[in-house]
Amino acid sequence: LIRFDKVTKRFGSNTVLDGLDFSVASGKHVTLIGPSGSGKTTILRLLMTLMKPDEGTIKVNGDYLTHEQKNGKLVPAGEKHTREVRKNIGMVFQQFNLFPNMKVLRNIMEAPVHVLGLSKDEAEERARELLDLVGLGDRCDAYPTQLSGGQQQRVAIARALAMRPQVLLLDEVTSALDPELVAGVLDVLRDIAHSTDITMLCVTHEMNFARDISDQVLMFDSGRVIESGSPEKIFGEPDHERTREFLSAVL
Ligand code: ATP
Repeated sequence: LIRFDKVTKRFGSNTVLDGLDFSVASGKHVTLIGPSGSGKTTILRLLMTLMKPDEGTIKVNGDYLTHEQKNGKLVPAGEKHTREVRKNIGMVFQQFNLFPNMKVLRNIMEAPVHVLGLSKDEAEERARELLDLVGLGDRCDAYPTQLSGGQQQRVAIARALAMRPQVLLLDEVTSALDPELVAGVLDVLRDIAHSTDITMLCVTHEMNFARDISDQVLMFDSGRVIESGSPEKIFGEPDHERTREFLSAVL
């Protein structure tokens, strides 16, 4: 479903991703772990087209994300093409990024109405179902600031799902939360992982969560995947010394 092919991303002289190849199959839950600054968030931001690769290509569902084929040649894609491909992807950020001036229900309805063209009634029905799913069915009329961080993050998850994406990107979604609010958000994500066929790509420092939901864990260092495997393998008997060092520092 997702394929990175020799993707390089630089910021000035800092090569953050260095010819990165990896792929995520449909329906799988893949977690990216690794030291701070190793390029994990950059991967998610490339998928959201918040930035573009310097070299290499990214495919989503068989389509190039930032390129398109014209007369048999691969050329930089137009906005319209990229927008269409990106519709398959939803993202939840560390800072919830809700619209502060809109009630919870409208936060969730906004994109389905304006991007997908759903009627207000359809969007509202979908939003109410999703708020029930994340345990906030009774908070439709609240403004984001009237909710705890954990509740806001659950609204952000519902908002991402309202677009019915094939892929959900999760970028350290519990890092900004008070410790007692983390479990509620992770429980909602565990439910979604186990009860839907959505593909998930997560960056997380919550190793127990990674162990619970992942089909595959990718260990990053210096912009490359240095090791990948099942959670049992990576957390239990990693091959790479760097992985062992990293895990002993965070577990
Ligand atoms: P963390 O776990 O701390 O979030 P990460 O593995 O997600 O780390 P990235 O956020 O992808 O790492 O950042 C990788 C490197 O790219 C870092 O050195 C960072 O300073 C640099 N970087 C990221 N975004 C930018 C930017 N917009 N401009 C310049 N440098 C950037």
